[in-house]
Amino acid sequence: MFLNPITWPKGKQSAASITFDIDADSLIRAARPEDAELRLQAISMGRYGPTVAVPRILQTYRRLGLTQTFFMPAWVMEQYPATVEAILKDGHEIGHHSWCHEDPMEHSDAHEADLFERALEVHVHMTGRAPRGYRAPVYSLTPKMVDRLIAHGFLYDSSMMADDLPYLVESAAGSLIEMPPHWGTDDWPPFAHFAEIDYLMPVRAPSDGVRAFAEEFDAMHEAGGFWMPVLHPFLTGRPARWREMEKLIERALSTGQVWFAPMEEIATHAAAMRDHLRCEKIN
Ligand SMILES: [Zn+2]
Repeated sequence: MFLNPITWPKGKQSAASITFDIDADSLIRAARPEDAELRLQAISMGRYGPTVAVPRILQTYRRLGLTQTFFMPAWVMEQYPATVEAILKDGHEIGHHSWCHEDPMEHSDAHEADLFERALEVHVHMTGRAPRGYRAPVYSLTPKMVDRLIAHGFLYDSSMMADDLPYLVESAAGSLIEMPPHWGTDDWPPFAHFAEIDYLMPVRAPSDGVRAFAEEFDAMHEAGGFWMPVLHPFLTGRPARWREMEKLIERALSTGQVWFAPMEEIATHAAAMRDHLRCEKIN
């Protein structure tokens, strides 16, 4: 099934990491900086994530004994310190997700480097350590950003889509592990409706949206692969959708054959098998 299969620890058949990008109101502030303060509907839709949905998600993880990964823009971390504290208290990982959801394509490289490092400082200050993983806003990763991640010793990125399983990315600066997302396991297409940023998709029923993620899980599990939903608390953390996700996670756990772990652990496992990984060279 896979070109370069990976064997998982503890004899598990497949690996899984549920990732939540806590963008909150950084989305509207990045998209409409000139008047975001006036757009209370968009701000409130974002604020629902860290304040209402994340506590619900953490409660489920505690009940099921899971530690997982959250990606946060540093501006969001500063605005919602209690959310950061609650995530860390339960032992979850927080990855780098830009300063305030700015698209690396839209800034000069020098400005992007400043914002990236400013965000790193917030991570170190608030979490006591440098993040090991990065996901670019809207997956908008650039070759310069890959080099920057490598220069800062990042273990993994999670923005590129060249394989099903974790793979190695090599650039002139060195290498890192890529933990590939794809649109079939992202909750924007089924659940987002965001007029202020011109994202107008028909919203699917909770069971329909999550069924797509379930089919992705089933195929990956059967083949011994890696399942990584890319979710957003303000979308999938709502009661009906999260109830469907809980049922899916419970079903995955009931097999006893899925290695659920934070991204950092799975990337570390992949890095230990680097000679067996598929390698993609950029620049
Ligand atoms: Zn994001």
